[in-house]
Amino acid sequence: MSADENDRERAFAALLHHGGEQRVPGDSLALPLVSASAYHLPGEPEAPFTYGRVDNPTWRETEAALARVEGAPCVLFASGMAAITAALAANLSSGETLLLPSDGYYMTRRLVADELTRYGVAVREIETTALADATLEDVSLVIVECPSNPTLDLVDLELLARRCRTAGALLVVDNTTCTGLIQRPLEHGADLVVAADTKAPGGHGDLLLGHVAAHDDALLERVRRWRTTTGSIPGSFEAWLLHRSLQTLELRLARMCDNADALVARLAERPDVVGLRFPGLASHPGHALARRQMHRHGFLIGFELADAGTAERFIDACECIDPATSFGSVHTTAERRARWGDAVAAGFVRLSVGCEPTGVLCDAIESALTRATTAAESRS
Ligand SMILES: *Cc1c(COP(=O)(O)O)cnc(C)c1O
Repeated sequence: MSADENDRERAFAALLHHGGEQRVPGDSLALPLVSASAYHLPGEPEAPFTYGRVDNPTWRETEAALARVEGAPCVLFASGMAAITAALAANLSSGETLLLPSDGYYMTRRLVADELTRYGVAVREIETTALADATLEDVSLVIVECPSNPTLDLVDLELLARRCRTAGALLVVDNTTCTGLIQRPLEHGADLVVAADTKAPGGHGDLLLGHVAAHDDALLERVRRWRTTTGSIPGSFEAWLLHRSLQTLELRLARMCDNADALVARLAERPDVVGLRFPGLASHPGHALARRQMHRHGFLIGFELADAGTAERFIDACECIDPATSFGSVHTTAERRARWGDAVAAGFVRLSVGCEPTGVLCDAIESALTRATTAAESRS
């Protein structure tokens, strides 16, 4: 095991035992859920907790657990978009330019195009694969997703971070598709990480949350102040649920990534599956980069089936797939991305591999593919 891996595993063990030193006999091992708008606050307002919009003990514990995952302090938000809004809006002013991927998360592009531009922020879009070489002259902030979604393209984070630093631009990385257990952009020089904990960290399709992580205190304080002022705060129950979920994150991701590796090996042999996208494939254009900056290859797979009908039949036919537009759950989910207007073929499927037993999952997916493809052939 490398020293780096050893560090991550120790951090995860520490997450599981966090807070143990402070317990007194009779304390619950589980995190207490504190739901409070008001706190006991006599005299000068100098208590650790003053008002529910400012801070909450359950958020703090969840942020401490997230910090173990990211290897950096974190601020929790009501959703991934609330975290992204904070990271962008708290760091951009009128007249400044933001650079973002044209193939990035749709809602981030909409936030920028529909909202930030109204406040005088100028916007430039460029494909993920061209970002590391983009002209950064006059750019104040760059946001990138790595790997991108759904085509799973990679950016050389270290190179981009170095170029941003030289240009005086902040680099924000949306790390949702990886989580801090698979990739740590801050260690490659990014200034801020944003992520949707709605996805793998929550992992059960039952909550929305997000966070911002940074080593720089001033940057993190700015997003915390944004949260307090705008009220984009997490619910305490959601924070508690996430804290519970984080305790199995390492276990879940290990199974999800193992399943994805096994499934890709089988899909690669099938003539009815084309354009297979997975950073673990030697044929993936970002494969060498993935080996450098990712610890695993993730749990998202993209591929094309013959047409929209075949893709829909495949998703419907598989007893181990739930049709859904999110990803990162314990349940394998899939969707045909063209239904949202993504620039992909009509039969392109994004599969988010879950925690089902490996053999059962791979067999179910292969069998559903065969049924969907055979039905297409007998129709034509
Ligand atoms: C889902 C997602 C978000 C937004 O998260 P919400 O919790 O739905 O607001 C942001 N970025 C990426 C890459 C996502 O997949």
